[in-house]
Amino acid sequence: MRASPIQPTVDLLADGEQHGFLKLPYSRDDSAWGAVMIPITVIRRGEGPTVLLTGGNHGDEYEGPIALSKLASTLKAGDVTGCVIVVPVMNFPAFQAGTRTSPIDAGNLNRSFPGKPEGTVTEKIADYFQRHLLPLADYVLDIHAGGRTLDFVPFAAIHVLPDASQQARCEAAMRAFGAPYSMRMLELDNVGLFDTAVEDAGKVFVSTELGGGGSATAASVAIAERGVYGFLAHAGVLDRDTFANGEVNRTTTLLDMPDGTCYTTSEHSGLLEMCRDLGEIVQGGDVLARVYDTTRTGAPAVEYRARRGGLLAARHFPGLVQIGDTVAVVADIVERNIPVAI
Ligand code: ZN
Repeated sequence: MRASPIQPTVDLLADGEQHGFLKLPYSRDDSAWGAVMIPITVIRRGEGPTVLLTGGNHGDEYEGPIALSKLASTLKAGDVTGCVIVVPVMNFPAFQAGTRTSPIDAGNLNRSFPGKPEGTVTEKIADYFQRHLLPLADYVLDIHAGGRTLDFVPFAAIHVLPDASQQARCEAAMRAFGAPYSMRMLELDNVGLFDTAVEDAGKVFVSTELGGGGSATAASVAIAERGVYGFLAHAGVLDRDTFANGEVNRTTTLLDMPDGTCYTTSEHSGLLEMCRDLGEIVQGGDVLARVYDTTRTGAPAVEYRARRGGLLAARHFPGLVQIGDTVAVVADIVERNIPVAI
């Protein structure tokens, strides 16, 4: 396969703290010999595991970029055993535009894996992660939130994997992240996900959904920051015993999305009335939302009912809904308030 056009301005294998870029040549009207410059920090000291921390896979999700920018500017090589590679904003063009997908090529990075070195800008970014960063990593944490069109209760997530021992390692890392909720997540379509690329490579992988609505809150950023440190301590890059001492009494509630009945999809476009809020317990058959026809008065609203009982874990965010949008996700509660374990 052709070599990646992306060149790092840092040495991924050198000791110390390095701040630089993944430089992707991108010729365009306002810069003939220009480049997309994706910020990267590498912090390495001696032998040990390598952890890859990523945010901004989607450009309108902010907890990852905030927590990882802060980490990159404060973590020192003397703090770590092994290596931490920090990319706060994977899809930098999308992040600059404040949109989920790239304004350059409409690419959704998290549907573009394994990518192509001769493809679009977004496919070139995916290919670089696939072939150059993933092979270096033992642990990968990819921080997401709901973006402009979804909102979530804050959770770290893993997938059900064919390899039970790999899944167990991912579950342990998810518990160490220590979000208020921990989810066994069902993807409606896992083709092209960064998640799938990392899992297929046999790595320990944890993703998150920490809120949404196209912004971050003090609470959701705090969950991300604490989660990053818990994940690094679990991996052994930060001192596990020191970190675990401060973690007494912290708990997480384990959730599961066992099948497609967790999802409620809108079959109408219109004005959305959410009838239940995130984190509430609902029963199967409960009205979760109503959709009103905005083009006329006098027509009854369409009701959307829960297809199963459980905890309302996700909802559509803006006030208007389109046909095909996910209105709500109801998850099973597997176990409440289990101790966070580093
Ligand atoms: Zn996302």
